[in-house]
This record gives sequence, structure tokens and C-alpha cells, in this order.
Amino acid sequence: MSTETLNVAGIAVSPHHYIDGQRVASEMRFDLHSPIDQSLLGRISEGSPAHVDAAVSAAARAFPAWSALTAAERKPYLDRFAAEIGQRAEAFCTLESNDAGVLLSRMKHGVVPRAMLNITWFAEHALTLQDRPIETEQATHIVRHDPAGVVAIITPWNAPLMLATWKLGPALAAGNCVIVKPPEWAPLTSSLLADCAHAAGLPPGVFNIVQGAGASTGARLVSDPRLARISFTGSVPTAKWIAQSAGANLVPCSLELGGKSAFIVLEDADIDNAAATGALMYRNAGQVCLAGTRFLVHRKVHDAFVAALRGYVEKLTVGDPRDEATEVGPIIHPRQVERVHGFVQRAVADGATLLWGGAHHPFGAQYYQPTLLTGVRQDSEIVQNEVFGPVLTLQTFDSDEEAIALANGTDYGLGGVCYGATEHASAVAQQVRTGFIWVNSFGIRDLAAPFGGIKRSGVGREGGDWSFEFFCDVKDVVVPK
Ligand code: NAD
Repeated sequence: MSTETLNVAGIAVSPHHYIDGQRVASEMRFDLHSPIDQSLLGRISEGSPAHVDAAVSAAARAFPAWSALTAAERKPYLDRFAAEIGQRAEAFCTLESNDAGVLLSRMKHGVVPRAMLNITWFAEHALTLQDRPIETEQATHIVRHDPAGVVAIITPWNAPLMLATWKLGPALAAGNCVIVKPPEWAPLTSSLLADCAHAAGLPPGVFNIVQGAGASTGARLVSDPRLARISFTGSVPTAKWIAQSAGANLVPCSLELGGKSAFIVLEDADIDNAAATGALMYRNAGQVCLAGTRFLVHRKVHDAFVAALRGYVEKLTVGDPRDEATEVGPIIHPRQVERVHGFVQRAVADGATLLWGGAHHPFGAQYYQPTLLTGVRQDSEIVQNEVFGPVLTLQTFDSDEEAIALANGTDYGLGGVCYGATEHASAVAQQVRTGFIWVNSFGIRDLAAPFGGIKRSGVGREGGDWSFEFFCDVKDVVVPK
């Protein structure tokens, strides 16, 4: 058991795994740098195959007792877990701003309250799952949602706390035991979650964390045949690897992946509202899977929209995410900064025009200017691929049919935004092939609603009942009349 902690901006956090109710250190470590200023935040334990095996074994041992509890009996554990998150709210905010560069204001007002709700809401919702009978003339079908078993949860760096809790809430409430493999570029808030689980009295083995790189620790975890489910959020290439690995053992996967969502501005849109929302797409330096990154604008309102958008973008504050006034923070990693810049350079070489941005931001090495490219072809790299940075494109259209064709003309289908007169925008939105789409709004979410993508943006749905459909074995007990 290791009690060593890192001191990150005054917050003590363990750099180690959490397995079977104990902190476990690795001799092998990896360096964790802050995207804010590249400072070294600490050296994090790197999970070996033995650590992964120990975590899966601990979860498998804990499963019979945890799954034998009713949802009502598990609920107090989960309510305490959420309360422990609340008690450490400031620590969560500080850690994720420092390791992931997430805006402090967003952490405080959005992510931490949502993380707590992710736990309590699903604990409450699990109570409604019990015994949903279907009565027929012949029989009563008692439809049970039984916990599936040991669940692997793998999360990306852009929203580590939000996404870990989004999966943990329903997985634990359903009676599963979990192993979380946090993102190696932003592992700290997941580590703090283990402190919360411990303080809440979750039995050893119910909740485990193994830190480490995706290609080694993560790959080992998803190849374990004892897993009952894998819930993954991340990129398309990683999802393909995971799906292959899981397929070898026939382990069901939920895959929440990247996006290249359309932001449609119809001729009858409220241009100022659309532009104000459009500027939000640069938040978190564009590292938001569900952002509308392709503006599709009716030719007649093009000039007005670009002028209004420019006004909002010029007012964006780029800077240190720990400053609550900041709206655009750093890009997660130097490699990612170069990747983003490479996309812009190739787009310009391919004939695109920069309306603004297109270069590193003077605030620091990992900051990039909010960028807008126009004159882009539908089949070009910049339109077809997820940049995951503050780089957006703009295309024009002359009819609804053309807007819909452009919106649907990529291999992704995660989110979308459509601005216009409500009925008109709603009708257009319904023809966009995507997992979800916002009409005259952005970012309204409800835990009861389904979330997920189509095409290359994902496989399966989480949220509400859909989370439980995934994390449970649904069984029909047929009792003849
Ligand atoms: P990534 O795929 O590189 O990594 C995600 C996680 O997978 C990390 O924890 C990583 O360590 C792990 N991993 C990597 N290789 C692995 C392997 N072979 N086996 C098991 N695990 C492995 O993604 P990223 O760069 O961290 O995140 C950005 C991506 O996530 C973007 O594409 C973004 O759109 C997507 N994303 C999607 C959603 C959504 O809800 N659809 C939400 C947030 C982010």
C-alpha cells in the first residue's frame, strides 16, 4: 500500500493505481506535464500486465456480493460517493484544469456538479429497473436487468471526470464491478475518484483504477476474457483496436467516438444568436467531441453571419484555464498542437482561405488561435477529418437539400446544430444523420436521453435506460398462467 501523493497546486493526489481497495504503486512511471506551461506535475504509476490482472481479479471477487445487493441497497453507497466528490469539488477543479487544461469556470459550474449527478441520477434510476413484467394471455414475462459482471471503462483526456462518472454511475448502480483506465495525459481526477470511492465505503474490488498508457495497460485490459463489458470513449483508431480485442472474446463494447458535426445556419436564422453559439465551438480549444465544427451557412446570410461571428470570436479570451475569465485554454499536448497546425497548413496548401487564425497563439507554446477556414471542398481532409482543436470550417449552400447533403457528407455522425425558424430548423435537423442535434441551441443534455453516435462516431447508446441496457444482462423469466 503506497501513501505517496503528488502536490499539484496545493492538492494532494495519489499517482498510483487503486486495486482491491488499496493504493498500489508501480516501479515503472511516466511523466505527466501540464498543458498550461509544460511544467512537470509528477510521475504516474504505469500499470503492468500484473496490475491489470490483479484489478480484474479483485473486481471478479467483489462481484458476487456487490451484485447480490438490490439497487436500493447500493444507492446509499453511490449517494455517499457523489457526496465525497462534492466535498472535494475544489480539488477536482484544480486537478483537471492543471492536467487536462479544462477551463476552471467550466469545471466549477458544469463538470463537477454533473459528475455528482452522473452518480446519484443513475443510482436513483436503477430503482425503476426492477421487475418490469409483460403480461400476455399465456404468461407473465418477468424482465430482469441483471448486472453483467466486470466492466472496463476507458476514457479520453478531454473530459476525464465527466466521462468516467458518466459510465461509473450506471455501471455501479446496475451492480457491476469496474476497472477504470484513465487517459495518460490527464489521469489525476480519476485518481481522486478512487479516494471518493474509498471514503464512501465501496467494498474493496468494486471500483478499481489502473493508470497507464493505452497501447500497453489499456490494451492488456481490453483483451482480458473475464470482462463482461467494455465502455470506451475516445478516437476511432483506438476503438477499432478495442473492438477487435473484445471481438476475440465476444465482449460487448459501447464505443463513443469522434465527431465532425455540422453547424447549419438557415436563411431564416437569428444570425446574432447563431453567431454567439458558433463562437462557443472554440471553447476548451475546440477539444469537444460534440462541437459543431463545420459551419454550413445559407449564401444569403453568409456575410452577416461571418461578420457577427467575427465580432464574438474577437472577444474570446485565450489564456490560462485557471483564470475564470478564460474562454479558450491550451491544447492538451505538444504533439496535438503540431497535429492541429498540420491540418491548417495542408488545408491552406489545398486552396482553403483563412478568415482568421491559422497560427500558434502568443500566450504560450500549447495555445492556438481560434481559426476559421473557408473555400474548403467537401472531400478535403479538413472537412472530412476530426481536428480536435480550435479550427472550424465554413461552407455555403443554396437550399435545404444541399445543406442536408453537406451535413451528411462525412463518415461521422455524432452531434449537430441547426439555427433557423423553429419549424424549419427542426425539419432540417430531423434529416441530418446523426446521434443527436440541437435546434437553435447547443449543449442541452439530460441524463434520461440517449447519447451516442452513428457511422464512425460510435456504436451503441448510453444515457438513461440505454446505459442499463448496455451494463446489464436483460433476462426474460417466463411464468405461464
Ligand atoms: P484515444 O483513443 O487516443 O484514447 C482514449 C483512451 O483509450 C485513453 O485512455 C487511452 O489510453 C486508451 N487507449 C489507447 N489505445 C488503447 C488500446 N489499444 N487499448 C485500450 N485502450 C487504449 O482518444 P483521445 O485522444 O484520448 O481522445 C480524443 C478522442 O475522443 C476524440 O476523437 C474525441 O472526439 C473523442 N471523444 C468522444 C466523445 C464522445 O462522447 N463521443 C467524448 C469525448 C471525446
